[in-house]
Amino acid sequence: MNPTEKIKLLSDLVAIRSINNYEEQVAQYLASVFTEHGIANKLISYAPNRSNLVAEIGSGHPVTVFNGHADVVAVNDEWNTDPFVLTEKNNELYGRGACDMKSGLAAMVIAMLELQATKTPLTGTVRFLLTVGEEVGEYGAEQLTTMGYMDDVDALIIGEPTGYEICYAHKGSLDIQIDSKGTDAHSSMPQLGNNALQNLLDLVEIIDHRLHQVTESDDATGAFLFNFTVFNSGSQVNSIPGTATVSLNARTIENFDNDAVLKLIKSAVNELQQKDAKYRFDVKVLMDLPPVDGVKETQLIERGKVVGKQVTGKPIKTFGAAYTTDAAKLLVKKQKDFPFMIFGPGNQSLHGTNEYITKDMYFNFIEIYKQLMLNNGITH
Ligand SMILES: [Zn+2]
Repeated sequence: MNPTEKIKLLSDLVAIRSINNYEEQVAQYLASVFTEHGIANKLISYAPNRSNLVAEIGSGHPVTVFNGHADVVAVNDEWNTDPFVLTEKNNELYGRGACDMKSGLAAMVIAMLELQATKTPLTGTVRFLLTVGEEVGEYGAEQLTTMGYMDDVDALIIGEPTGYEICYAHKGSLDIQIDSKGTDAHSSMPQLGNNALQNLLDLVEIIDHRLHQVTESDDATGAFLFNFTVFNSGSQVNSIPGTATVSLNARTIENFDNDAVLKLIKSAVNELQQKDAKYRFDVKVLMDLPPVDGVKETQLIERGKVVGKQVTGKPIKTFGAAYTTDAAKLLVKKQKDFPFMIFGPGNQSLHGTNEYITKDMYFNFIEIYKQLMLNNGITH
């Protein structure tokens, strides 16, 4: 493919407004591109207007999965250009998803098309997995893993934006909602009511205090983090509220994981409920993504460093990240030393408003992926 065709494919992807719930068109578009080039592929429906896509070249082992998500985050009014029109300025390509992560998707797809077009023999299988809902719970990755698409896999490469660095581990993410139930009353007769907000504040104070005492930290991904993020209660200043709700997000690590957070919260709930019948809480887990504790000395990562350096002329560093990716779901049944890396085009800190990818980096990753598809370093 010439550079204009490569940019056209990215531009077509950016033009699809695949904000969460509308990934179907990305899957359909890439399916037609694969079919046009004689590459076997299959749409896997998650829900109406939402499909994952699986495409494969080569055969046998090692099976290497190249993964990326089709959804992008919502846009605001602060953009300098139309976020759904890929716009070039000084060798930079601007658009929603240019960084996270339609350039990664496009680079993976183009690498496969080029290898297929030149009939280059592969050692093993390259399996492309496009997923829905990564930004909000990794539903697509969970579905494909449950369906067995990770069962025979020997290595996983995720094309999320890391730039010329390789991420080998990341934190987990846990979303919890706590509902407090009381009884409405007028504030002049509070004895007739049961203040759900006041009760919830008592609980929040205990949880906040205990979670702040957690000092666990992870060598790769850093400190355990948590934040209360949503609080709702009451409708009128002179009424005792009968319901209250609080939500919190925790960024978990191996030494203080999702189960540890949940246990701490549930024991605080039980303590209060046993102390006084006025306390009535309901704890719901909204999202539960475990931390990914990868190993940085795998053959795959060694190979990634070599290829990255060949293509860019720069040494490639490794790091652990605070965010989460589809790996949390794709690797659920794998051992800690399973060959895995996140290595994709885009600067990690630039995926918000006015996100962009430099043309050089986009083209370089097409070459990096091609080299990794030909040889992922895994001796089988
Ligand atoms: Zn992403």
